[in-house]
Amino acid sequence: LIQLYLPLNFLGFVYREIKQSLTDMEAMFRLLAVNAEVTDTPGAPPLAVAGGALRFEDVSFAYNPDRPILKGVDFTVPAGHRVAIVGPSGAGKSTISRLLFRFYDVGGGRIAIDGQDIRAVTQKSLRDAIGIVPQDTVLFNDTIRYNIAYGRPGASQDEIEQAARLARIDDFIHSLPEGYDTRVGERGLKLSGGEKQRVAIARTILKGPAILLFDEATSALDTTTEKEIQASLREVSRDRTTLVIAHRLSTVVDCDEIIVLEQGRIAERGRHGQLLAQGGRYADMWAKQQEADALKVRLAEDLAEA
Ligand code: ADP
Ligand code: MG
Repeated sequence: LIQLYLPLNFLGFVYREIKQSLTDMEAMFRLLAVNAEVTDTPGAPPLAVAGGALRFEDVSFAYNPDRPILKGVDFTVPAGHRVAIVGPSGAGKSTISRLLFRFYDVGGGRIAIDGQDIRAVTQKSLRDAIGIVPQDTVLFNDTIRYNIAYGRPGASQDEIEQAARLARIDDFIHSLPEGYDTRVGERGLKLSGGEKQRVAIARTILKGPAILLFDEATSALDTTTEKEIQASLREVSRDRTTLVIAHRLSTVVDCDEIIVLEQGRIAERGRHGQLLAQGGRYADMWAKQQEADALKVRLAEDLAEA
């Protein structure tokens, strides 16, 4: 037993060590999303960004041929507008963002930005035009300054601080013992989910892309953090074409269009008021979330009393 136990334990140790040093690389690969199947067409020009108008035209997609994930998804986000995609887990929401960033190519239909099929332009120019605030931000094992500046290498300290202010993370950074020089990530100061997300938002503000893509966190952020994040998201999405994958319906209330995705199809679409009046799936989701929120408030009150 001891003979068996020792190597296993040792392997566990080695695994943890390797995993630590892999964090940077993992982060890098996730950011660059290396997928060998997606390549530039020879001689592809860069994307010519006008306003960043976004179009999904009858898009279908499957990770495995025997299991279709998106089925005829069709929508437009006019330049500078904000559209939300909501729907149950597994509906295909994140897949839409992966296709837009061209981690995968569509199986049918097409995705166009300012009229150009995204398969016809260089991946670099496409990815430069899109800012993503992901569900779970991975920070580099480096300073907080580096982590924000990653959005635009060569940015000045002023620009970095300005981005941090807009993302409402600057007060927090100033409260750290070493300010912008504080090391974060796995081997540094561990930031909360909300803090990490605001670092990602600052990074995106600094990048200043024409198109924004938010995949909201599902995690139960406390109400204050959530309000702060929403305020910073609003700040960064002003006058930018924005696609929000929303879990919290409170975010989508003022969107130009809300798309309800279910099992890879658009089940309902419209503005918040219209969808409520329709009394369908969205109205149900809204009612459930209101109920859950009320319950959360009551629970918090009960806990405070106890
Ligand atoms: P959502 O974001 O709406 O929760 P996703 O777009 O992440 O949904 O996933 C849609 C479906 O695709 C799910 O059933 C999921 O299991 C499947 N899926 C996601 N990523 C992959 C993958 N890399 N390979 C195979 N199936 C995947
Ligand atoms: Mg998702």
